[in-house]
Amino acid sequence: MKAEIIAVGSELLLGQITNTNAKFISARLADIGIDVHYQTVVGDNPHRLKQTIEIANERADMIIFTGGLGPTKDDLTKETIANLLDTPLVSHDAALVSIEAYFTRTGRKMTENNKKQALVLHNSTVLENHHGMAPGMALEKSGRHYILLPGPPHEMQPMFEHEALPYLLRMLGKKEVIVSRILNFYGIGEADLEFRLQSIIEQQSNPTIAPLASADAVTLRLTAKAETREEAERLIVPVEAEIRAYVGEYLFGINDDTLSSKTAKLLHEQNLTIAAAESLTAGLFTSELASEPGISTALKGGVIVYDEKAKIEQLAIPASLLQQYGVVSAECATALAVHVKQKFKSSIGVGLTGVAGPGAHGGEEAGTVWIGLALPDEKVETYRLQLSGSRNTNRLRTARFALYYLIK
Ligand code: ATP
Ligand code: MG
Repeated sequence: MKAEIIAVGSELLLGQITNTNAKFISARLADIGIDVHYQTVVGDNPHRLKQTIEIANERADMIIFTGGLGPTKDDLTKETIANLLDTPLVSHDAALVSIEAYFTRTGRKMTENNKKQALVLHNSTVLENHHGMAPGMALEKSGRHYILLPGPPHEMQPMFEHEALPYLLRMLGKKEVIVSRILNFYGIGEADLEFRLQSIIEQQSNPTIAPLASADAVTLRLTAKAETREEAERLIVPVEAEIRAYVGEYLFGINDDTLSSKTAKLLHEQNLTIAAAESLTAGLFTSELASEPGISTALKGGVIVYDEKAKIEQLAIPASLLQQYGVVSAECATALAVHVKQKFKSSIGVGLTGVAGPGAHGGEEAGTVWIGLALPDEKVETYRLQLSGSRNTNRLRTARFALYYLIK
């Protein structure tokens, strides 16, 4: 089985977005033994898309498309395929009903072009979209497989996992079950993680271990194949244990866990409340936590104390302390954490101070950060970071490292 991935979208050619869809699909196809021979990118242009498909028809048994399934004029993937394969587009009742329901629910008026999203290739297997409106499709024609997926990764990925993958396995006549488990790490780079796990990664074939780095975190996807789900899960256990033995200190969560969801879970489970005094992050830490539903029982509030005067006036931090140690210091981070904990009568106080950059400040290099945690029972912890990103990367990482230290 030779596969080709065609990513459709002029924004990819203009360099406005990265083709992460091809990366994702290629990795998942490798897991099930389908070889991807080509990844192609083509703009939203019917003539060039047609040419691209004609070339792919010559060299692939399976063509997977992403993008161009939406309602707008430039979305023309299925129209072009319909045309080329001489297959009509027909309205899909279930898709139309769910699109109409969406518009009723949101009180908006459905326009004609939205109906276009409910059109599917005649005789295709419809792949449901649980995170958007445009359905995906799988079609077999002249011995070749065509799979159409939406462009937005948050729609495409679950559709691939839950709709396209089972279709592919059925089609390949495979009885095997595939189970994936994602390990989420923080505080370690992708290269370092791979280096430390090199021998395990190389030796492993079932489960396979695939490292993936996103903007700010590193994940490992363990994928096992077996005849039953239980057996596949059993294969993962010893490999995960081995990984934990090497890099367990950086592991903070499994599958959908994020730093903020894990922190929220911990606060809820232990009945703890939290407040933060933020200098360089100016609210990013509280904002990350506030993205978690139900956090209001745990998150009391926070203060942004950006300049020295605010630290003194809002939190009664002694001016002498700031004079003696400077604002970028363990002492200042501790004072911020302890004082904000008192101010909000919370069980935990978080103090964040440092130099976001790009320049140095008060004799401290850009990226120097102190995190103070005032924990229950008068326990205080401080952490020093030396970050090397841009100003805003450093600010976001400070907020995330604070979450990471809270759950560690
Ligand atoms: P929509 O209904 O949102 O229009 P669509 O299926 O028509 O979805 P496109 O219009 O091609 O998809 O792309 C929508 C968005 O999805 C893009 O602006 C981009 O953010 C993201 N996207 C599209 N293709 C890719 C890709 N190959 N890799 C990563 N992101 C992508
Ligand atoms: Mg679109």
